Amino acid sequence: ATPTALLAGTGRGAQLGILVKGPEVLEATRRVDTIVLDKTGTVTTAQMSVAAVTPGDGWTSEDVLRFAGAVEAASEHPIAVAIAEAARVGSVSIARSARASTTGDGSSSLVEAERSTSPLVEAERSEDRDPLPPVHDFASTTGVGVSGTVHGRKVSVGRLGWLRESGLDTAAAPDPVHADATAVHVAVDGAVVGVIEVADTVKPGAADAVAELRALGLEPVLLTGDRREVADAVAAQVGITEVVAEVMPEDKVSVVADLQTRGRTVAMVGDGVNDAPALATADLGIAMGTGTDAAIEASDLTLLRGDLGLAPRAIRLSRSTLRTIK
Ligand code: ADP
Ligand code: MG
Repeated sequence: ATPTALLAGTGRGAQLGILVKGPEVLEATRRVDTIVLDKTGTVTTAQMSVAAVTPGDGWTSEDVLRFAGAVEAASEHPIAVAIAEAARVGSVSIARSARASTTGDGSSSLVEAERSTSPLVEAERSEDRDPLPPVHDFASTTGVGVSGTVHGRKVSVGRLGWLRESGLDTAAAPDPVHADATAVHVAVDGAVVGVIEVADTVKPGAADAVAELRALGLEPVLLTGDRREVADAVAAQVGITEVVAEVMPEDKVSVVADLQTRGRTVAMVGDGVNDAPALATADLGIAMGTGTDAAIEASDLTLLRGDLGLAPRAIRLSRSTLRTIK
């Protein structure tokens, strides 16, 4: 009867949208007491949009966005997709209306610009839509940023700390205007020339999922490479109190290992390429089906839709399947 119960459990899982790699996975679901949740793509939708562009002295929002967009067009990171799209959607009309809403400190809100867009400007915008300039020597450094050559000028987009460590001049780097948006700085020819902010949204149902995980005896921990302020804002929205932010991609795995050293049995939910080692190290790796192949391969369980609510369901189902077997 044992294999039948097991199959029934995993079959039901498939119906619900939960794929279980093998029967040995079920045992781990019984022991886990901590669940590490990657922020971007797991707790948030990762469908980002540009919320603000702040140019440095002598630069316009339009040029900052265009140089950054040209490089980001070669990347598939959610931040990159948002920046390339904003740059493509007519830097002309957006920059024009953004200029109208320019605040005292010289920053402009593209969100406002979009809201104030009339159907006429909309039509003009699609005509204005010219392709982004090509990028040469594109390079992407996972979890920190991208670089390339545009119009013969060296462009980097990413974390301020990374730009600084790369030897770029960050002295005149403008500050982001939103406390809870993800900020990436743009450098051209050796110096930072602006900052672009992208906003993400918490998945509907993420807060309920966190509450259910807690009810199952799992303490949630939010893990991200993003800024502390952004991480704290997301954590507050979904009811998580333990936050590990500003983690370099290669250090995600040590966060999981550290928890294990402290005696905790850890489940980890993630979606990105850089989450894969942490997913493999966790006692129970759970991948978002909407995520990368690397994350799915490294995991024990895959949640077929991007629905975090399937995480508590998977654990509940696995535990009850175990009970049936025993
Ligand atoms: P998370 O840990 O939330 O899933 P990532 O590890 O993918 O996020 O990225 C961490 C940080 O690295 C981002 O917040 C951003 O500052 C920077 N970054 C990563 N990829 C890019 C990119 N393509 N363009 C600009 N910045 C990037
Ligand atoms: Mg991620």
